[in-house]
Amino acid sequence: MWQVIGQTKAVSLLQRSLETGSLAHAYLFVGPAHVGKMTLALNLAQALNCEAAEQPCGVCPSCLKIASGKHADVQVMALSGETSEENRAKISVEQIEQLQHSVSLPPFEGKYRVFIIDGAEFLSIGAANRLLKTLEEPVGKVVFILLTPDEKLLLPTIVSRCQRLELFLMSPIQLEAALKTKWGVEPEKAKLLSRLAHGCLGWAVSSARDDSLVVQRAETLDKVLDIINGDSEERFAYASQMATQFGQNRGQVYARLDLWLDWWRDLLLVKTGSLDSITNIDRLDTLSEMAAGLSLGQIRSFIQSIRSAGEQLRQNASLRFVLEVLMLDIPEVSKHAQVKSAV
Ligand SMILES: [Zn+2]
Repeated sequence: MWQVIGQTKAVSLLQRSLETGSLAHAYLFVGPAHVGKMTLALNLAQALNCEAAEQPCGVCPSCLKIASGKHADVQVMALSGETSEENRAKISVEQIEQLQHSVSLPPFEGKYRVFIIDGAEFLSIGAANRLLKTLEEPVGKVVFILLTPDEKLLLPTIVSRCQRLELFLMSPIQLEAALKTKWGVEPEKAKLLSRLAHGCLGWAVSSARDDSLVVQRAETLDKVLDIINGDSEERFAYASQMATQFGQNRGQVYARLDLWLDWWRDLLLVKTGSLDSITNIDRLDTLSEMAAGLSLGQIRSFIQSIRSAGEQLRQNASLRFVLEVLMLDIPEVSKHAQVKSAV
């Protein structure tokens, strides 16, 4: 049984390739973070090495070993270390050289050697060129699976050597149904998680199993609300703290900005009466209060500010500067409305 849910197109294509023996030598799975790229890659590795008649069975010794990361023929390569602001980490030439050595060996215990490269966009130019050589000279019983959220960051020559499969975000309705039926999550929690997950089943399932993700999110959101209601001193302290805390890891800053964006999009939805699409459904009262104290123009303009902060960071602008500008752009929530709502 394929464990990936909601990716019918990709799964049926792979299933057909397995059945007809028309497997590609290299695959590129494209899709946003937590959409299920790694789950699908491991599932494909299982299907290739499964000992049962219906592959992947998920329960034979080979499938179990792959699931627990202990199969000698399935290697996962990813970025080691954190991405720093000055020196963006890369998958190195040395890492690819090691991989090339393994490629030349026959499978140890399974039928296929499978190499999964998670975050293929982090390949250094040198490493990408080395990998390209390997992809250009296919070896039997070896399958490469490259995972990336954005194929534009890969060398076009690498992309053209791979069979491309796109993984899509699931709708909140699909997610909610999957959480209830497959994981037995209680209805109210399933509804909330299906909204907070932004289409990513992986995040929703992890959060259903482990409350700490949702608790952490709530704490971070509380801080965001404090800052919106705070004075300029508090806002600059927040920007400075975030710049220090996340200077070594921009990914976390993007995640924090996404949370800001969610909140302001929700305010826009409340303001326009589109309550069905709200993400933070557990905070509807606070959203309504705050939306009453803001104009549509103010909300739209600040959403634009958050987006442009994200774009500037992607273009390598100074983290502290971008965050300080963003803090200056936070609109004033009308006190009148707040007083009214407090009564
Ligand atoms: Zn199996």
